[in-house]
Amino acid sequence: MSAVTPGLVCAHHHLYSALARGMPAPPKVATSFQEILEQVWWRLDAALDLEMIRWSAMLGALEALESGTTAIVDHHESPNAIEGSLDVIAAACAEVGVRSLLAYGITDRHGPDGARRGLAENERFIRAGGRGLVGIHAAFTCSDASLEAAAGLAADLGVGVHVHVAEGPGDVDAPRRLAGLARDDWLLAHGVHLPTDHALRGTILHNPMSNLNNAVGYANPARFANPVALGTDGIGGNVLEAFRLAYVLQRSVDVTCGPDTAWRWLATGRDLVPETRDDEVTWSYEPMDPWHVAFTPGIRPLRVAVGGEVVLDDGRPTRVDAAEVRAKAREQAARLHARL
Ligand SMILES: [Zn+2]
Repeated sequence: MSAVTPGLVCAHHHLYSALARGMPAPPKVATSFQEILEQVWWRLDAALDLEMIRWSAMLGALEALESGTTAIVDHHESPNAIEGSLDVIAAACAEVGVRSLLAYGITDRHGPDGARRGLAENERFIRAGGRGLVGIHAAFTCSDASLEAAAGLAADLGVGVHVHVAEGPGDVDAPRRLAGLARDDWLLAHGVHLPTDHALRGTILHNPMSNLNNAVGYANPARFANPVALGTDGIGGNVLEAFRLAYVLQRSVDVTCGPDTAWRWLATGRDLVPETRDDEVTWSYEPMDPWHVAFTPGIRPLRVAVGGEVVLDDGRPTRVDAAEVRAKAREQAARLHARL
């Protein structure tokens, strides 16, 4: 094996959360996953405008590229800036030189009109030629009518659905509510509280760092018959790090396992954006095989070519100025934090 691999895919990201770092602490300490959603993420996403979304996506795409990730599967929500939000994210990823597969996560948290507008944004973006899936936040924040509408739209458009499934204990009804809707092209993020014999079709997206951070438990995705891919759930775009963590977490419940399984999960991401197989990442370390990577911290890409174009050279992006992106993102983060 050499130090060159195809591009990596972050199979579950929230680019909007790139501006969350350093945000003011919530009014009171969150004591459960539900309270983390209510006090952190649902306040943050409601405060987003299109300019913040643009620079969070620029920063997130830059950080992904700097980690050898050449495609981002994003799940977006901005209830007060829905229309056009997917165009803004797609343009930011393209500007940095990273591929994207986007979805707007619909929800009934803001009333049926919010879900309708979210669905319309998915449809508008995909019908206009955008690379997308239909997004659902999660079954537990959607009515049956909204779940059916999203599944129906996805089938009409010939694309899959990207949805959070049983991330926390509040969504244990998801397998029952999504039964009969989910298909092989659906992306099921987390699955921590899914029973092993759940009958849902689709790819499970495993997000080990996020699950630890939210104290929701360990998904143990090796137990599922479904394909499994790795994501960050918005904590950066470094899926090589997600692989390393996925391996030791699997090891924590099965001391006989090797890193091959988590390495396969990393590769499964490429099934979601197959063009990444033609991308080329030249790494700072050789050989890039699972046993080496699992025990070698700090591996980074030196050069990245996406679709034949060199977009990272000598560790630096070629299409954007990294310092400028970080400075603009800091400005937008300050605006966002002031609203919270
Ligand atoms: Zn997520």
